[in-house]
Formats: sequence, structure tokens, C-alpha cells
Amino acid sequence: MNETVTRRRFLAAAPAAGAGIAVAPVAGAGGKPALLGGAPVRKAPFPSWPVTDATEEQALTRVLRSGQWYRGNGQEVNRFEEAYARLTGAKFCLATANGTSALLTSLAALGVGPGDEVILPPYTFVATVNVVLMLNALPVFVDSDRETFQIDARKIEGAISDRTAAIMPVHLGGSAADLDSILAVARKRKIPVVEDTCQAHLGEWRERKLGTLGDTGCFSFQASKNLNSGEGGAILTNNADIVEKCFAFHNNSRGRRNTGYDFSYSARGLNLRMTEFQAALLMAQMTRLERQSRTRTENATYLTSMLAEIPGITPARMYHGCTRNAYHLYMFRYDKEKFAGLPRAKFLKALGAEGIPASGGYSPLNKEPFLKNTLESPGYQAIYSKKRIMAWADRNHCPENDRLCGEAVWFTQNMLLGPRSDMDQIAEAVHRIQKHAADLARA
Ligand SMILES: *Cc1c(COP(=O)(O)O)cnc(C)c1O
Repeated sequence: MNETVTRRRFLAAAPAAGAGIAVAPVAGAGGKPALLGGAPVRKAPFPSWPVTDATEEQALTRVLRSGQWYRGNGQEVNRFEEAYARLTGAKFCLATANGTSALLTSLAALGVGPGDEVILPPYTFVATVNVVLMLNALPVFVDSDRETFQIDARKIEGAISDRTAAIMPVHLGGSAADLDSILAVARKRKIPVVEDTCQAHLGEWRERKLGTLGDTGCFSFQASKNLNSGEGGAILTNNADIVEKCFAFHNNSRGRRNTGYDFSYSARGLNLRMTEFQAALLMAQMTRLERQSRTRTENATYLTSMLAEIPGITPARMYHGCTRNAYHLYMFRYDKEKFAGLPRAKFLKALGAEGIPASGGYSPLNKEPFLKNTLESPGYQAIYSKKRIMAWADRNHCPENDRLCGEAVWFTQNMLLGPRSDMDQIAEAVHRIQKHAADLARA
């Protein structure tokens, strides 16, 4: 990093660190909110994503000119798999077309199918649910722990039945689900664990990389993720049998030695392979992964120290075992009672007007109409009795998650990649909105 920039950043952040509140460059927290006609706290955009330079250009040109764009001809995907396994400490890595296909391949390799149940959280990206439905299995939702935004591991055992074929915790936002509890109950009941690690690259549980503790760990390299090749995915596992099953499934049921004109098959499969271009791009992006991840952690930790002081703002708590948070999202809960009743939607709008883009995050997945429609479809009804679907619906309540979905506020990972003074501005905007909350609520 440039010496001058570092110094400037340090100077900008120093007074704030001492006082525990934001620096007030012009109008400060006392200034009129932008939504009420004041000057916004921030005019500059946050750091853009992705970050690239000549490294990516050279990598892509190399593949382009080689004419070997498919993993069966080239070496790029093989190299990426080796590098990602080394980086995470996993025995095996299989690259896939995207994160959704990594999850689907894992569940298929573990034999999940019609009649089975898969335990998962309702607070996740829709792909976690879709892969269960694509295998004609039943998604069984376990309520969220509102404090951490993760699946409430204490409630998993109560959701297990004799049809439970997998537990699929999600390390939401890059923080870790409670793996001690999840792995203990999974071992006791002999149920495989598929970690949805799509948001948690380089995250850790007790100093081991997330995605290496379950039977498989699934990653996404989609454009928004902390490691990005536009689309892309990977499965980590320490199990040689599972990785071979995954390989065959993602390669139209053709195993590693089953190449060329050997047209013999052992099971069902799909083509979910990664291209050589994706792998080359990932190798280039990986040269910055560790550094970017450290910057996010430093900024997020500093931001938490400021936001935690603001009444009505509760940053997501991490479980004790989470030794590293990947901060794909910066998440906190908003209590409007401490903001003169200002509804969350208005709070988000006011933040946006101050130049701080924020989102309210997911809506309750377990209540999605498409879910009910799928379970009531002729295909599902051919597999599941009416009684079983009704029993599923009776159990499908996640009141903590319903509340969480109404309180959550997210910042995206790229907002954590700039100087520390960006965090001061975020805190300043929240202070300003709180100070003028009554006026904003009336406007
Ligand atoms: C992004 C994501 C996925 C899906 O990954 P894709 O690469 O977009 O297919 C699955 N689960 C979670 C939690 C995600 O964030």
C-alpha cells in the first residue's frame, strides 16, 4: 500500500478512535439529513467490485490463445483445484460451474433424493432451498438465532426425523454457523453435513477453514462473492469416495478415468463443469484474496466498535468458535423504537440519501408461495402423502426468523475495502439519522 495513503488514512481515523464517535468534517452528525435537504455525509462511491489489473488480462489471454477452453484439455481447472485445496487445508477440491451446482452435486453425491428431508436455515439465498427441491426432497427449516443471523443449532435435533438425509448449515454473511453443536448432533445421528460456504471464503471455525469441517463445503464465485469469476463454484471434502462421486455427477456421470470414447455410466449426472477461463480468472483473483479479506476484517471490527455504541443498532454477534469472519456482508439489527419509530424502510432510504447504500436483506424463505406450490404440485404429491405435506406445513414456523427479516440491515463486502475513514462516515450517517429520527419519521 502507498505510504502517503496509509498515513492519511491513519490521521483521518485517529481522532475518531479516541473519542469513540465519528469525525465531523463539515456538518457532522448534527447536520441536517440529506433526505431533509442537507448535504450528504458522503458523495464518493464506495470501492468498486471486482478489482482487476493486468494479472487478469494476462490470465484470460493465456487461455484464449491456448485454444484449450475446456478442463478436459487444459490444466487451469486442475491447478485451481490444487491451489484452493492448499489454501483451505482440504484434501480435495472439485471446481464447478457455480455455487448452486456445487450444492446440488454434493447432495446428489450423498444420495439425497425423493422422500428425503434436508435441514436448512430459512435465512439464506434461495439457491440453498432450490437444490433440495430439484432433488425432489423436502426442505425442513430450522429457525434462526436472531443474535447471530445463523441457523439456531439448538433447534436442529428436534427437526431430525428418520428421513433426514443431510444437514445444510449456511455460514451466512461470512460468519460461521455453530459448527460445534451442528457436527456433534450430526455425528450422533449419523447424518452428513453439507456446509453452504458460498459467502464465507477464508472464514474459520476454531482456526480451521469453513467448508472443511462438514462432509462437503460448497463455495460460490459468483460476481458478488468475495472471490469472483463472474460465475463459478467449488466443493471441498476430505473424503476420497465423495469427491469421486461428485466428479462423476458433475461430469454427466462419467468418472475421472472414464474419458474419450468410453461411454459407460454408473449413475445419473449433469454437466456442471467449470471452464478454463473461470479457473484462470480465479487464480488471478486469489492473489488478492487474503489482503482484501484482512482489510474487510479490520474495517468491520472498527465499524462494530462504533455501531455497537448506538442505541437501537445491534451488530450480528459471532459464535465464540468463529475465529475468522469472511464479512461477505456486514449485518446488524435495527430497532426503530430507538429511532423515534422511524420504520426500517425509511431508515434505509435515509442512509442511501447520505451516500451509504444499505439493504434490508432476505425475506422469510420458508413462507415463499413457490415453496407451497412446489409441495402441492402433482410430482410432489406422487412422492409425499397429503398427511406428510400437512405435517411439514404444521412444523414450518420460524418466528425468530420472521422478526429478523424485519430488523436486518446489510452493507455489502465492497464497502469494507476502502480506508477506515469510510467506516467513520457510515457511523456518522447513522448518528445523524438517529438525531433527526423524529423529523424523518414525520417527513
Ligand atoms: C451465492 C449463494 C449461493 C449460490 O451460488 P451461485 O454461484 O450464485 O450459484 C448459494 N448459497 C448462498 C448462501 C449464496 O450466497
